[in-house]
Amino acid sequence: MPKTKDEKGFVDIVNGRYKPRGVFHIPEANQPIFNKDTGKLAGVTNPRDMTYIHSYGGEAPFFEGLGKGRLMATRCDNEKCSTKGSIYQPFRIYCPDCLRKNIVIDMTDLAKKTAKIHSYIITHRSGAFNSLPIPIKFINVEFEGVVTILMSVLAVGEPEIDKRVVPIFNTKSPTYTIMDLRFVVEGTTESELPEGFTY
Ligand SMILES: [Zn+2]
Repeated sequence: MPKTKDEKGFVDIVNGRYKPRGVFHIPEANQPIFNKDTGKLAGVTNPRDMTYIHSYGGEAPFFEGLGKGRLMATRCDNEKCSTKGSIYQPFRIYCPDCLRKNIVIDMTDLAKKTAKIHSYIITHRSGAFNSLPIPIKFINVEFEGVVTILMSVLAVGEPEIDKRVVPIFNTKSPTYTIMDLRFVVEGTTESELPEGFTY
């Protein structure tokens, strides 16, 4: 059953400080575990309902961008770095070679023009809390001029190595998580996109 507003935790940042409000730990009665063969107590269940406060830190621009239909990456612009100009997607806050802070760039257009499937795996059995339709088509996506590979999900179409794909974004009701980004095969029409998603 979805929780009511009074059973949720919310966080704002005011004057540079995290200000939680609401409920972050909801108690629930435990249940005994009895051995039906002997009638003896064997243990208890331990239900827990906790809301985590997950700070994105320097990765926040990536997640904020998704809800606006933008795919943000980072790039090392350090003149003295031997790998200067390297673009990182997934978003790396620091350059792994010179350890200087990368700059944030918008690579949406590059992704739309050059994304293709590097490899893929189709998953028929998922773990707990999965909300993606099964089978899940996990794809590793490569982009021209980007030195890393992005793991994502193919929402429409069949995966194939080297197939051109295009990013789509949950811009209608963003969750501000990686779930706001998926890919579809090139040529997919807007009406085929999952609910809430746009190009
Ligand atoms: Zn560097």
